[in-house]
Amino acid sequence: PRTVGVVRDLLSHLVERSKRITVLEHHTMTDPLTGLGNRRALADWMQRRSAEATVVILDLDHFKRFNDSRGHLEGDALLRRFASVLQAYLREEDCAVRLGGEEFCIALDRADALVAERYTQRVRASFALDPGRVTFSAGVAGVLNLETVEDVLNRADQALYEAKRSGR
Ligand code: GH3
Ligand code: MG
Ligand code: MG
Repeated sequence: PRTVGVVRDLLSHLVERSKRITVLEHHTMTDPLTGLGNRRALADWMQRRSAEATVVILDLDHFKRFNDSRGHLEGDALLRRFASVLQAYLREEDCAVRLGGEEFCIALDRADALVAERYTQRVRASFALDPGRVTFSAGVAGVLNLETVEDVLNRADQALYEAKRSGR
């Protein structure tokens, strides 16, 4: 009976460890503030995507001003609300991540620039109803064959820069 007890304790310990590892694995892919994915989740998604995929980088406009006037906690709350708008229109095969600060990325599988624009317009219309009254700028780039995540983000970032430059 003592051996049975030892084996039972060992098994229950292993089950607990394994559950803990699953939770930690989830944490490594998650942005703690918004619950969206992080850069690791995006790199993971890049491995799984189909041949036609498009990414959108979205950056809140003048967010520093919002933070300075309303405070960091209000800023955090706004980031969370923006994240939930981004998530609201996603399909199972898509991926939404917070790249850092007030910068987000949406990766749309089996989607071209037109689909990405439609998605972004939906986010714009929905976020326009937010009491924070903050706008965002966005840049779109189609994922090229064999392209790395850094390369496609770089091209989307150039498009975003253009959007910022032409008036936000
Ligand atoms: P632009 O329109 O050119 O994007 O201007 P911006 O003010 O949005 O951009 P800038 O890079 O100058 O400032 C980003 C601000 O985002 C700085 C910081 O106050 C804020 N920020 C970054 N990370 C967080 C965060 O986790 N929480 C909060 N509340 N604010 C953050
Ligand atoms: Mg910004
Ligand atoms: Mg920024």
